[in-house]
Amino acid sequence: MRDVQFLVTEECARLARWLRLMGYDTALAAAHPLPALYQRVYQESRVVVTRNHRVKAGRLIRVVYLESEMLAEQLRQLRRDLQLTVEDGQAFSRCDRCNVVVEPADKASMKDQVPPYVFQTQQAFHACPSCHRIYWAATHCDRIRTRLETLT
Ligand SMILES: [Zn+2]
Repeated sequence: MRDVQFLVTEECARLARWLRLMGYDTALAAAHPLPALYQRVYQESRVVVTRNHRVKAGRLIRVVYLESEMLAEQLRQLRRDLQLTVEDGQAFSRCDRCNVVVEPADKASMKDQVPPYVFQTQQAFHACPSCHRIYWAATHCDRIRTRLETLT
C-alpha cells in the first residue's frame, strides 16, 4: 500500500519518524482539539494512526488504533493491517524530522558536511530543503530493512 498518507498523533512520534524514513507522507499532530484533527484528516486524505481512543473513526475518517506502545509492535501491526512495504527508491526519500521529500545533493558540496569516511564511501547524498539535514543511503536503509525484516 504505497499511496497512503498518515496522520500520527503525538504520543506515537517515534513511529511517525520511522514511517517517514520508509517514505510515507506522515504528519504528526496533537489529537486535540478533535475537530481540527478531523478536518485536517479529511482535507488531506490521511489515515489516522493513534493510541488515543477518543479519536473516533467515521465514514470519512479512517483510524488505526495501535495496540502496543512498542515501536516494533506498532510497525508489525501497520504492516499486517495496511500491507506496508519498503521499496527501493521510496525508503529514505523523506526527512524524518520535517516530512519533506529530500533532494539530491551534489557530492562535491558534501565534503565538509559529512564525516570523511562517509564522503569516501558514499556516492549519493540527499539534503532536506527545510532543515538541511544530510542523508546518505547506506546506513539508514540497512537499518530500516533490518528492523522491518525482523518483524516477521
Ligand atoms: Zn528536514
